[in-house]
Amino acid sequence: MTTVPNIEDFVDSTNPFVRRFSDYLDEHGMRKTTERYAILQHILNINGLFTIEGLQQLVDSDGFRVSRSTVYNTVELLMDAQILRRHVFEGMQAQYERITLPHTHLICTSCGRVKETRDPNFAAFMNARRYNAFNADHYSLYVYGTCSTCARKLKRAKQSTTKKNKRDKQL
Ligand SMILES: [Zn+2]
Ligand SMILES: [Zn+2]
Repeated sequence: MTTVPNIEDFVDSTNPFVRRFSDYLDEHGMRKTTERYAILQHILNINGLFTIEGLQQLVDSDGFRVSRSTVYNTVELLMDAQILRRHVFEGMQAQYERITLPHTHLICTSCGRVKETRDPNFAAFMNARRYNAFNADHYSLYVYGTCSTCARKLKRAKQSTTKKNKRDKQL
């Protein structure tokens, strides 16, 4: 469970995200609190998307005492520092992830699972795309549909209702 290094070592680490956060806090005259760094430390151990609740549970499970508002405020700071990005997929609570190379989110509307994928052709198209009187900074692509697990379940459910209907007709 505890793969997190000592917090003092972490604050002094050469990790680019830690550096950027320290610079950000300096630039904005904000205090470099243990809580803020502990939250970043846990975020850097997460692969992919997370919710505020999930992050809070992770921090709690390591025995750090951090209030929900501190978690929330730190996430806001990390977004402003260009370390995190927020995604709000239709019908779901906000999710966050570290800013990485552009990628596509495939969202299953049945179970809510989100798969991430890279599409080099689409990325090349977007990189070359220019807009009139507009400077593009970044983009997000959300694709909604059904994951293979849900598709199988739906198919099975459909088959059993067809069988049932046939039986009902015979009776
Ligand atoms: Zn699904
Ligand atoms: Zn993503």
